[in-house]
Amino acid sequence: MSNLDRAPDVRELGGLAAVAPRPVHEVYAGKEVALGESTVVRRLLPNLGRRLVGAWCFVDHYGPDDVSTQPGMQVPPHPHIGLQTVSWLLAGEVHHRDSLGSDAVVRPGELGLMTSGAGIAHAEHSPVPHPALLHGVQLWVALPDGARATAPAWQQHAGLPIVQESGASATVIMGSLAGATSPGTAHSPLVGADVAVLAGGDVLLPLEPEFEHAVLVVSGAVDVDGAPLVPGAMVYLGCGRRDLRIGSQAGARVLLLGGAPFEEQIVMWWNFVARDNDEIVEARRTWNDRTAFTDVPGFDGFRLRAPELPPGRLRPGGRTR
Ligand code: MN
Repeated sequence: MSNLDRAPDVRELGGLAAVAPRPVHEVYAGKEVALGESTVVRRLLPNLGRRLVGAWCFVDHYGPDDVSTQPGMQVPPHPHIGLQTVSWLLAGEVHHRDSLGSDAVVRPGELGLMTSGAGIAHAEHSPVPHPALLHGVQLWVALPDGARATAPAWQQHAGLPIVQESGASATVIMGSLAGATSPGTAHSPLVGADVAVLAGGDVLLPLEPEFEHAVLVVSGAVDVDGAPLVPGAMVYLGCGRRDLRIGSQAGARVLLLGGAPFEEQIVMWWNFVARDNDEIVEARRTWNDRTAFTDVPGFDGFRLRAPELPPGRLRPGGRTR
């Protein structure tokens, strides 16, 4: 998935100033964003109030959409630096192709994990034909400085570990939860889990108190920490929690995201996570003039062009506002 916005905002993020060191309960509604002509997503992160949860720096939730008579996801080749993309589906299929030559179909229950390292390009499309429903999330994880120059990589993992708790089961997508660890390569301490809460379920999930956490409702309705959370909304929970109570009357799926507060100051613009203005300018230039990055095979050079940069220099800054 790509940021297809033709005038993307500059996001300056990182540092500890905005991390809530104690438990909080900040609810965020998603912002609807058109992703090309055929898909509307709800962007939960970054938002006006909060830009990072641990190293998680981008959260888009899409569907469930009936795409039986639609093209579905149509994201042409575009580049990334400084991040990992995490593709997670609740319904449907996404055809991933990248500049390493990877050519894979990601299905529900499978982790699609792409590590940009210093640079990668990829395209994501609904296969032809495709299932009627498309429902999923696209997440980005900011890479810490020590991992930014790693070789680009694509991993696909089925059979992820599942944590069984009374009233719920949690699939560990990234990082660790309750001693279970995803096979996806992570570069900072974090957790990403898909928690299926049974009808009438009331689960007490063990958390890492050093992490900050957030919960996104992808289907159904839940009570988080005793407060209702509607489908599509996300609650930021701060740090300092040893556990989290989630209940649902009719059953629900939620995404638990968390991680060690990301101390490095970073700049995010379009599909790039960098450390300063010059790095963004260089990534944009070398993508557009084709002097860096490799093409995704199969598109005859067709690709998304990076938009114009906003006036002024991009500066890394605090975590909120
Ligand atoms: Mn992408």
